[in-house]
Formats: sequence, structure tokens, C-alpha cells
Amino acid sequence: MSEAIRITRATAKKAKPKDSELAFGTVFTDHMFLADFQEEKGWYDPRIEPYGPLTLDPATAVFHYAQAIFEGLKAFRGGDGKVRLFRPQKHVERLNRSARRICIPELDPDFALRSLVELVKLERDWVPGSVGTSLYVRPTVIATEPFLGVRPARAYVYFVILSPVGAYYPEGMNPVKILVMEKYVRAVPGGVGEAKTGGNYAASLLPAEEAHAAGFTQVLYLDGVHRRLIEEVGTMNIMVRIGDEVITPPLAGTILAGVTRDSALALLREWGVAVSERQIGIDEVIAAARTGTLREVWGTGTAAVISPVGELSYRGERIVINDGRIGDLTGRLYQAIVDIQCARVPDTRGWTLEV
Ligand SMILES: *Cc1c(COP(=O)(O)O)cnc(C)c1O
Repeated sequence: MSEAIRITRATAKKAKPKDSELAFGTVFTDHMFLADFQEEKGWYDPRIEPYGPLTLDPATAVFHYAQAIFEGLKAFRGGDGKVRLFRPQKHVERLNRSARRICIPELDPDFALRSLVELVKLERDWVPGSVGTSLYVRPTVIATEPFLGVRPARAYVYFVILSPVGAYYPEGMNPVKILVMEKYVRAVPGGVGEAKTGGNYAASLLPAEEAHAAGFTQVLYLDGVHRRLIEEVGTMNIMVRIGDEVITPPLAGTILAGVTRDSALALLREWGVAVSERQIGIDEVIAAARTGTLREVWGTGTAAVISPVGELSYRGERIVINDGRIGDLTGRLYQAIVDIQCARVPDTRGWTLEV
């Protein structure tokens, strides 16, 4: 879509919270991006409007059959005051992969990228500058046709909203306790595990509630067939370091292809670390812990960047990793990615896009 973006400016601007008061996903900027889709027209009417509610018929398809996809990426203010998006092209590609699986019409990648750049540019004053803070960008597509039949809808809206978010680790990185989940699964081969779609999150709420009640912050899902192979955390991909090898489950259809996962793997390979994208059973992880070769476990995701895992609990057994301390590669990866995001080091990989 090469149509010009129509801009309607907000007449009243909201008060911006102080960087120290920012949380996650509670405050939204003054404007949002929208475009509509109809079968006969394709994507049309790209526009930036004042942030506000969408009005939808109660029969709207998305409310009933969950035809919805989203993305989550961030813009950062560097020490030089400039604003950069982190790997937006990768997120656009993934939005379109999710679209194909959920029968949502794809967006022209150049148009989708332009929507992110133009909206963030207009809202650049909302990008916080303190260490660890960012502007979270949430592109979403939902089916808008009012129709109760089960088939792909004939109308959609694409929207992008922005939310300034606070530091994920205001008191420094803290290793998390994770419950290895045997009772529930997240995905099965052939299912929608690799799509970023709301239904996967609806399905994850009960397992997470049960894990929280038992004192754990997160859940590590096992594969849906054997309940043995480790898969992912549900909001993060997982990496384990056994001896000198870093192992992460392969992109075989049941886990999300994390952009942070990809960035971490690229850095590890550049550093000469042995990296394997392969299946790994929870039994292999436990065996390594018993023989003392399980050195580090961390999660990767846009929200936390890198999240150290201090403890895994499986079938009632607690496995403490690296004495509950942050491992070397865990810390090094976190620092390396954050340095690129905030332009503290030159971006030699083309991962950031200045807006
Ligand atoms: C978004 C997401 C991730 C992390 O992906 P990033 O691109 O690194 O943010 C991991 N797992 C699931 C299920 C997700 O939805």
C-alpha cells in the first residue's frame, strides 16, 4: 500500500509519566496508527489518529473465534538523544508469518515498517531516556467483520499502539524460579504455537496462575506429545548452557521464533560459543544438573531481553542453577543487546532503525 498516511492530530496532549513511574502496558501515547482491510479493496486508508476506543459490533468475528495476531517490539532513546527501533523488519516478517497461519491477509512489509516509523516519529517525545526504559510498540490485526460463521473474516483492522515502559530490572537482574509444567501443554505440532496470537496467551493463564500459587514466576512448557522436550516459557524462549555448549530448542513449529532468541544466537556465534538449535529433553537438563555441567539457563524475549533462571522445579525436585546467581553468558548477552539497542556501541549488524 503506497497511499499517503492521513494524520489527525490529538487536540489535547496527555501528561507524560516520569521515567521512574513507568510500569508495563498501563499508559498509552496520544496517537495510534490504523488501516482497514476489505476483501474488495485490500488494505486501505492508512491513518494516524488520536488514541481512543474502537467501536465494534458484538457479532465481530474476533470476539468469537479469536482471529487476531500481534507483535511486540521496542524503540529506545540512545545517549545521543536519537530514537531507534530494534529489528523492526524482523517483527514485520513475523507478523506476516502469524497472519498466514491465522488466515489474516498479510501486510505489505514496506507499508508495515513505514507505519511503525511514522507513528514512533510523531510520538518521539514519548520515548523515555532513562537506562532500561523504552517505548513498547504493539502492532495488532483483528478480524472486524460482524459475522458468526466460522470462516476467515472479510474485514480486518490493523492498528499500532505505543506504551512507554519502565526498566524491567529496576533493582538489577534477579534470577527467576521456573516450574517445569507437566500438567498443561502450550502447543502441539501442527497447532498454532509458532503464531503470535492471543489464543496462545488465553491458554497460558491457568498454568501461570497455578505456578504463581506454588511460588514460581514462570512456566517452562514441555512438548505436547511426549511432555519431555523443553519448548519455551510462553513469553520467552529458553536457552541452557551445558558445559561449553548453549542449547536452545529448534524452530520446528511449536515455539515462537523470538527475535531476541535470534539476536542472542547471532551474538553467541560471533563470540565463538558452540550453539546448538536442537531438541533437548528435561531429563538431559536434570542429568546435567546432577553431574554439575548445567552452568546457566536464561530466557530471551523483548520485554526482559535476557532473564536469568535461578531455579527449575520438575516433579517436585528443585534444581538450583549456578547457585542462583547470574551466569557469565547471561550477563554478557544482556549487556551486549542493551548496548546495541541504546547505541552505546556501533550497530554493525543493521539491527536498529533510526526514526
Ligand atoms: C513474543 C514471544 C516470545 C519472545 O519473542 P521476542 O521476539 O524475542 O520478543 C517468546 N514466546 C512467545 C510465545 C511469544 O509470544
